[in-house]
Amino acid sequence: MEKLFDFDCTKLEEPVGPISDAMLWCVDRRIQGLRGKFAAHLGIGQHVPLIIPGGIKKIVAPKFPRDAELLMETIALIHYKLGVRRLFAMAHLHCADCEGSSDPTYYHTLLMKGGRILARRFPSLEIKPIFVDCKGVHLIQGPAASAAA
Ligand SMILES: [Zn+2]
Repeated sequence: MEKLFDFDCTKLEEPVGPISDAMLWCVDRRIQGLRGKFAAHLGIGQHVPLIIPGGIKKIVAPKFPRDAELLMETIALIHYKLGVRRLFAMAHLHCADCEGSSDPTYYHTLLMKGGRILARRFPSLEIKPIFVDCKGVHLIQGPAASAAA
């Protein structure tokens, strides 16, 4: 084994207090810097980043069913075992995983469906479907995004 990086600690440190937020975010480099700025705007310090192509699309319309299963397993772990209470699940305009669609309605439908799937699967997890476009980060609200819909 070859050591590539050296740091000094006796064991891997745990964060101060539980991390209560997670962000399901697309890998697109155009929006990577935005995640930290958005979290800071909300007053969220540490959060669990779930970086995957398409963000919430992987739950609604994965190219391979195993992608959605793995993502659901990951969300179950961070929620039930690591204490995450709130999940921001995003889609963004011109997403390559969505064939670069420029139709906001497409993404809103995706977010509503994804929010519904997540709320049913994880009723104790607060789901915040968010849409990112050139003007900002928008919370998608509506009855379809809740577990009751
Ligand atoms: Zn994307």
